[in-house]
This record gives sequence, C-alpha cells and structure tokens, in this order.
Amino acid sequence: MIKNQLYKLITREFKPEDTIIDINSVKIGGKEIIVFAGPCAVENEEQTITIARNVKKSGAKILRGGAFKPRTSPYSFHGLGEEGLKLLAKAREITKMPVATEVMDTESINLICKYADILQVGSRNAQNFSLLKKLGKCDKPILLKRGMSSMLEEFLSAAEYILNEGNPNVILCERGIRTFETSTRNTLDLSIVPLIKQRTHLPIIVDPSHGTGLRNLVNPMSKAAIAAGADGLLIEVHHKPEIAKSDGQQSLNLVEFNNLMQELKTVSKAVGRDL
Ligand code: PEP
Ligand code: MN
Repeated sequence: MIKNQLYKLITREFKPEDTIIDINSVKIGGKEIIVFAGPCAVENEEQTITIARNVKKSGAKILRGGAFKPRTSPYSFHGLGEEGLKLLAKAREITKMPVATEVMDTESINLICKYADILQVGSRNAQNFSLLKKLGKCDKPILLKRGMSSMLEEFLSAAEYILNEGNPNVILCERGIRTFETSTRNTLDLSIVPLIKQRTHLPIIVDPSHGTGLRNLVNPMSKAAIAAGADGLLIEVHHKPEIAKSDGQQSLNLVEFNNLMQELKTVSKAVGRDL
C-alpha cells in the first residue's frame, strides 16, 4: 500500500529491491562503495589529467569536475564551459573512468550529454522542476543533490520528477543543509542516509566536501557516511588546493585522498561493503 501522495516510483513499496546503476561496469547501489572524486572545477588540461590519473590510482571509480559552475557571485570563476567538457572527455579517454558533471539549465543538457556519463543537478537547482522534467527524458543517469534547504520529502519528490518522466537512474546525494551552525559550511545530515535507504530503492551517496566545507573534516565524515550506509562518496580533490579556482579550502590534496581511500577500506569491510 502506498500511502504517500507526493511520490510512488521511488518507494520500496513500488520496487522492493535496490536500484543498481551500471555505468560501464561501475555499479552504483550494489555491495561496492563507489567514490566519485575530482576537482570542484575543471581549470586546465594539466590540472584535470593529473587529478584524474591520481584519484584513479587511489581507487576512485568516477571522475567529477564542474565545467559549468553555479557561483554565489557573478564575479567568481564560472567554469570553462564546453572546453571543460572536452577536458573531462579527454581524462575519461586516458583513465577509462566515467565522468560526472553539473548541468545548470535546460539549454545545456544536449551539449553535456555529448561528453558526460552522469549529469549532476546541483543543490541550487534541486527544485528546478523544468530542469528535472527534462532530465527525466534523458538517457543518462542523474546525480541529484539535496537542496540546501530541502526536507526529505522535497528531496525525494525531486527524484520522483525524474523517474516520472521515464528516467529510472537517479543517484541521490546528501551534501549538507543550511542550519544555524556557522562553524561548518553546511550541516551534513547523515541521519537522512538510513532513512532514505528505508524509504527508497535508489542509491544514495554523501558529499562531505560541500557538507562540511573544511578539508580536515572530510576524512572523518567520509567514514561516518559509509558507516551510516551510504553507497558512495563524492569528494573534491585538487593537486594544488591552495591555488584552486574554487573550493580549495575543502579539497583534499592527492596524498590526503590516497590515505583516505586506504582508511575507508576497514570501515567498508566493517559494514559488509567492498571498496
Ligand atoms: C559541486 O558539486 O561542485 C557543487 C556545486 O555542489 P552543490 O550543488 O552541492 O553546492
Ligand atoms: Mn565545489
């Protein structure tokens, strides 16, 4: 019996078994913890390829990087656009890692689909219903971030918009919500992970980079996310965080990321997952 009126396709009542999304043999939502890693923004070829090669070596399965960046200020770096997408495609060719990148508006969906394997909807667009509906017609998996002020019901309803238009491949992402707390960039709401696992069959990953905004909190919160039942992580990594064009303060350097990946193996094993 489905009691909730807001959504149905995403519920366990509708589909009891876990949805596993297969992208070139990378399976999201299965036993293996899948780590998405890469820079906040694609900045240039050397940066993108260096980071891609290294995160792959450390065990990341998906390369993330923004070519179209939603920024608070109109004067900040907004990404390289199509040039950035080409660099991501080049990194994919070299590393064989599928690529996830943000789509900010309906106009750029077709362009981004030409280059990316996973389309990310950012927190600021989490309730952009025309965008969600269009992405429901697209044949690529969608990485849907939680809106920074979205309640669980709103987050899940946003996913329902995509499934309702015919695209069953949605990966949810908890990335922190805005609260009264100012010592972290956002408040990472890990309690939503087991709740989402109970209510829906969709995979959920956690982004401790945007969730905390602080490099030295990424390691402990990654471990906590896996312990809470997340299917994966999204982690910002930069080879030179101190000169990153965006989000350097929350980006791990290559060594920190490699150490984290090693340490996560024990936690994954403890909760019956592979990494
Ligand atoms: C990002 O992943 O680079 C990003 C902008 O994240 P969010 O939408 O969660 O702020
Ligand atoms: Mn970022």
